[in-house]
Amino acid sequence: MGMKGHVIVGTERTVVAAIGEKRDGAREALETMEGVEQVVPILAPYKIASREVRPEKTVVRAGSLEVGGERVAVIAGPCSVETEEQILATARAVKAAGATALRGGAFKPRTSPYSFQGLKEKGLELLALAREETGLAVVTEVLSPEQVPLVAEYADVLQIGARNMQNYLLLQAVGDSGKPVLLKRGHGATVDEFLLAAEYILDRGNQQVILCERGIRTFETHTRFTLPLATVPYLQERTHLPVIVDPSHGTGKASLVRPMARAAVAAGADGLIVEVHPRPEEAWSDGYQSINFDQFDQLMAECARVAEAIGRSIATLVSQT
Ligand code: PEP
Ligand code: MN
Repeated sequence: MGMKGHVIVGTERTVVAAIGEKRDGAREALETMEGVEQVVPILAPYKIASREVRPEKTVVRAGSLEVGGERVAVIAGPCSVETEEQILATARAVKAAGATALRGGAFKPRTSPYSFQGLKEKGLELLALAREETGLAVVTEVLSPEQVPLVAEYADVLQIGARNMQNYLLLQAVGDSGKPVLLKRGHGATVDEFLLAAEYILDRGNQQVILCERGIRTFETHTRFTLPLATVPYLQERTHLPVIVDPSHGTGKASLVRPMARAAVAAGADGLIVEVHPRPEEAWSDGYQSINFDQFDQLMAECARVAEAIGRSIATLVSQT
């Protein structure tokens, strides 16, 4: 019938999502086929991401990181990888505090072309070194389709930044890579556009997608972005994909990171991604929104209490797969 079939194996049932143009008579023709229990039209524009095709949650796994299960996962690290000392010290500190993955940009999408653009491949090597020492899975951003093979060689999770959420060729390339993907919401994107961006990755046969609310642009100028936490339960109603929150970019202010991390856990987020730096005042990027090791320890302790209050807990290191 000219449609593409996506097989989604769940615990309750196997769903074959037939994606394509709506055709007269297709439903009747399929319904009478052997092995077909039911044909259900999917109303959401994002077909594979929709809860309608997969009622149970997707768990994304990448080495030490597991997101989407009972436990809240915390990804932490600097905005940018700067030096060996900086990334190793941060990896050790966030691991000790209970993070299960390390973040750090090697290729940085900066507002100004004159700002630090990242250590590039050297940064990826340093992230791999930190993983080797700590066992933490590495989450790092990829900026273009051509970069995907290189970044995928080092990363456990490929991050798509807010500025690239609608870079469709990049979404398809990370989909084809087969690597788990952390997709950040564009700061000017609606929730439907966000889910359709995820759909581009899922449509390439890659189901390992984590959604990240990182704040949107509004008329408000007190904070760098406005962090809408209702997005978390709303997305969880619409999609089976795990939803995490970035309170660092979401607020743009170090003093607001801990309160909003707690609020995100209270809202039911499946995880957090937090910018942590040994000396935020000396950071080469996003220092004003980065917290230091002591503040991160405090954040973890507070979030553990909030998680407990809603019947969850913070994830601890799982053995590497
Ligand atoms: C980052 O994670 O450092 C980053 C650049 O985030 P965003 O794409 O959300 O701005
Ligand atoms: Mn940053």
